[in-house]
Amino acid sequence: MIYLDYSSTTPISYDVLESFNKVSKEYIGNPNSLHNLGVKSKDLINNATKQISDLLNISTDEIIYTSGATESNNLALIGVALANQKKGKHIIVSKLEHPSIYKICEYLETIGFKISYVNLKEDGLVDFDDLKQKIKPETILVSICAVNSETGVRQPLKMIRQIVKKENKSCLIHSDMTQSLGKVSINLRDVDLASFSIHKIYGPKGIGILYKNTDVKLMPLIHGSNKETELRPGTPATPLISASAKAIRLSLQDLDRRETFIKRLNEKIIKELSTYEDIKINNTKYSIPHIINISLMNIKPETFIHAMEEYEIYLGTNTACSSGELSASVMAIYNDKKRASQTIRISLSHLTTTDEINQFLTHFKTVYNKLNTLVAA
Ligand code: PMP
Repeated sequence: MIYLDYSSTTPISYDVLESFNKVSKEYIGNPNSLHNLGVKSKDLINNATKQISDLLNISTDEIIYTSGATESNNLALIGVALANQKKGKHIIVSKLEHPSIYKICEYLETIGFKISYVNLKEDGLVDFDDLKQKIKPETILVSICAVNSETGVRQPLKMIRQIVKKENKSCLIHSDMTQSLGKVSINLRDVDLASFSIHKIYGPKGIGILYKNTDVKLMPLIHGSNKETELRPGTPATPLISASAKAIRLSLQDLDRRETFIKRLNEKIIKELSTYEDIKINNTKYSIPHIINISLMNIKPETFIHAMEEYEIYLGTNTACSSGELSASVMAIYNDKKRASQTIRISLSHLTTTDEINQFLTHFKTVYNKLNTLVAA
């Protein structure tokens, strides 16, 4: 099998799974219980939270555990909107967000919030002039994805922060960092809130994190009883939390070396795919090397993906969360409907080997030529 859909989800790493299993077996107490078993679980969670806060360079009370990045995004946007609506009801997002952000925006509009979509430049970066112009005194939040899940375009969050805070000091900044953690370096001081998902970094599915700066006011979306986890109540998932600490630690190891290796694989693929007449490369110079996005102008992406599957090669269409639809990100950058409806995503990992890429390129050629002939016939 050749798995090239790592941006959709990753296989859990052996060490993380071992830790998950061990904790599930040995830490049976509810961390909210007062007895010894509860205290033992609580201590483990506190240790894991301390490790995560050290790794991300934040404090422990700035970490909220959620079920994944979709929930983190919901808590960030709706939580900020509800808690800060007296200051204003205007929110700005980019045109390169994950579909979950757009769904949240649609919901916020139904309860009286106004959403503005900041334009992009040709290279996929947020248009700073447009951003500046869209920020108003009543803007309470700007949400901009650190790395776009479809095209890999990485935004300069530090500069975005400077612009936002200069125009409106009290406006908060959220970033969906789901596709940047474990791939490129991040600095949480560039933002006030950030979303993460552990299944994207070789951890278990079903857990995410929302980073929230201590000063940020947030309204919980779920209401429960425990005071310590009042922003996201319910029994804390001890095994998932402890596995997350391990997954984050492992994902930050060798970041530069892994990126250099992945860049080499990326260059090999782009060089070869650029020779095909009817393939358009949708990455820009700001894309990270882990995510390659192409449009097959003459072949349906679903047909191509299933044909590759026969060789046990697994690719993605735009994002797994919106399969079969137009790629909003490719549309936002290139404003070309055909191009945006024909995309395939090839996402790489440090686990990908050169041999896998060679095999991928060989089978790609066979499948492409076969399907292209059928189209032409
Ligand atoms: N944001 C981005 C940028 C993503 O890539 C994804 C996963 N496709 C999500 C949010 C949703 O993450 P989860 O599956 O953890 O809800």
